[in-house]
Amino acid sequence: MTLFTDFGLAQPILKALSAEGYEKPTPIQAQTIPYALEGRDVCGIAQTGTGKTAAFALPILHRLNASPKPRKPKSPRVLVLSPTRELSGQIADSFKAYGRNLRLSTEVVFGGVTISRQEKALAGGVDILVATPGRLIDLVDRRALSLRDIEILVLDEADQMLDLGFIHALKRIVTLLPKDRQSLFFSATMPKTISTLADSFLRDPAHVAVTPVATTAERVEQSVIFVQTGRKQVLLETLLRDPSIDRVLVFTRTKHGADKVVRGLDKAGIAGAAIHGNKSQPQRERALAGFRDGSCRVLVATDIAARGIDVEGVTHVINYDLPNVPESYVHRIGRTARAGATGLAISFCNDEEKAYLKDIEKLTRLKVPVMPLPEGLPAAPAASEAGERREPQRGRPAPHARGHQGHGQPRNADPNAERGPKRRRGRGGKPGGNAQPQGGQPSGNQQRPAQAPRPAQGQRPAQGQRPAQGKPASGRQDGRRGDGAQVAWLEKSPRRR
Ligand code: AMP
Repeated sequence: MTLFTDFGLAQPILKALSAEGYEKPTPIQAQTIPYALEGRDVCGIAQTGTGKTAAFALPILHRLNASPKPRKPKSPRVLVLSPTRELSGQIADSFKAYGRNLRLSTEVVFGGVTISRQEKALAGGVDILVATPGRLIDLVDRRALSLRDIEILVLDEADQMLDLGFIHALKRIVTLLPKDRQSLFFSATMPKTISTLADSFLRDPAHVAVTPVATTAERVEQSVIFVQTGRKQVLLETLLRDPSIDRVLVFTRTKHGADKVVRGLDKAGIAGAAIHGNKSQPQRERALAGFRDGSCRVLVATDIAARGIDVEGVTHVINYDLPNVPESYVHRIGRTARAGATGLAISFCNDEEKAYLKDIEKLTRLKVPVMPLPEGLPAAPAASEAGERREPQRGRPAPHARGHQGHGQPRNADPNAERGPKRRRGRGGKPGGNAQPQGGQPSGNQQRPAQAPRPAQGQRPAQGQRPAQGKPASGRQDGRRGDGAQVAWLEKSPRRR
């Protein structure tokens, strides 16, 4: 077994890791750290949740610390490129946490906030800069930043970068970097477009890969409830009355949908917050902070906004809408299975979404167990049903007209949908591009049932089995606990062990 002490990392870094409570490296760390410490380029296939941030941050901190240099204004030594502001912030926080006993500075820059503060911070000199590509280029164009002294480059979540349209920015950035540098490149998937991009950044890289996408799905207990669109809100409220649903991420497909769900919860006396691309940075930060500290146990998010959100102790993921890209499903449910923890995911599926469910089951090679609707679930409020009917189904083909994978109309055609990952075609049922199923896993379209849903209360695994289980639900939710029939259903459900 590999230990952090086996890598020869500097003592102050090991001390910080103990303070973080990390006992041993995750597989991506065990594979990446030795190469990165040697100064080699690395090309890694790894998703968020595998511990890949530390896989690149630890060797970088070690190398900078081993060759200290005075800080130069506007000229960082390390550049980490990441696709979203949330992820950038989290990467910067990780560098600060692991480097807390070193004299190295980390700064993060992303769009959507005033640039002048970032210009000022860079002028003071920083060692490590974490950035989203667009804002990075703005800063270069304003001569607030030079990439001439970059010694180490990290490109994180490369597949998301391409999905979000950053390809031109990346091509430009590579021309601004010194040729003599170390580059570490990570992507959850490695189709041809990504490996071509990797080739333009890397020199003789070591290749590392972990956790095929399907294994994340295996760690999460899943279930699906078939429900009409108009009853989804009332179903959600019913489920949320179960106090064992401690810290829950609810996913909607659109930003508008996320706001609507939060408004509905508010009316039902359940505290929730939404996080999506139309929210300002302070609003997003407030929502995340409330979710982290347990004052708000329900966070409603779109896929893009949730990407990279790293909150420990998410007990449940609820897919209010099923995603039209099956990989998004795996990313979503992975929010509740961070760093080896297990979690529970419940998906609401209307008639239209049944095709999405099929695609998901094909990708994960797991059959999602069906949970019955709770007994006595109230009918949808009349207004909501009417509202649903009034909503035009723009750009969405009728279910019977929708071709299966790779045919028919694109599924991201809904103009209301938040810009998200494009559907990747031609990858068959295999997860993660070239990621292989683990030994003993059936291949092709054979399906095994996903783990049966976990019991609601009383029979759950000990706290210690999950990292930092959130605080028990408090305040307004508690007032609704004793709400008989629905909670009883959760406890009595035949599928629950
Ligand atoms: P990442 O994939 O970098 O987003 O990391 C996912 C989560 O795993 C974060 O909450 C990290 O703090 C945590 N983590 C990373 N490495 C380890 C480790 N070796 N032991 C325990 N937790 C870890």
